[in-house]
Amino acid sequence: MQAYDDNNVFAKILRGEIPANKVYEDKHVLAFEDIHPQAPVHILVIPKGKYISIDDFGLRATPEEIKALYEAVARIAAEKNLKENGFRTIANTGLHGGQEVPHFHVHVLGGRALGPMLSRKES
Ligand code: AMP
Repeated sequence: MQAYDDNNVFAKILRGEIPANKVYEDKHVLAFEDIHPQAPVHILVIPKGKYISIDDFGLRATPEEIKALYEAVARIAAEKNLKENGFRTIANTGLHGGQEVPHFHVHVLGGRALGPMLSRKES
């Protein structure tokens, strides 16, 4: 697996080097608004640890870190009033997944009907 890049934009947000509109924080997790929202609610939930992707996180993170991330998603969904009508979580991974930032993040999207899961233009 590739080495973690300390200069990725989310590492800079975690170090406080660039600003973010934070919506949730605890010992293991930070969540903030996506800078280019694709829905009325578009939050990024990230672990504070240095994990590149969901598979890296799943294999190396502690049970406490994993629980904290899922709990943060649940808290954000409740706080943003997404539970009644539902929402979508996305974890883009690697080249084919379209991952732009190499620090594991879960997109939490909602506030309107989001349509089909994938573009139907290509199969
Ligand atoms: P992904 O393609 O899954 O890696 O998603 C990366 C996301 O990070 C995109 O939705 C970007 O809009 C978002 N993003 C990039 N830079 C920032 C930033 N400085 N603050 C908040 N979100 C950002």
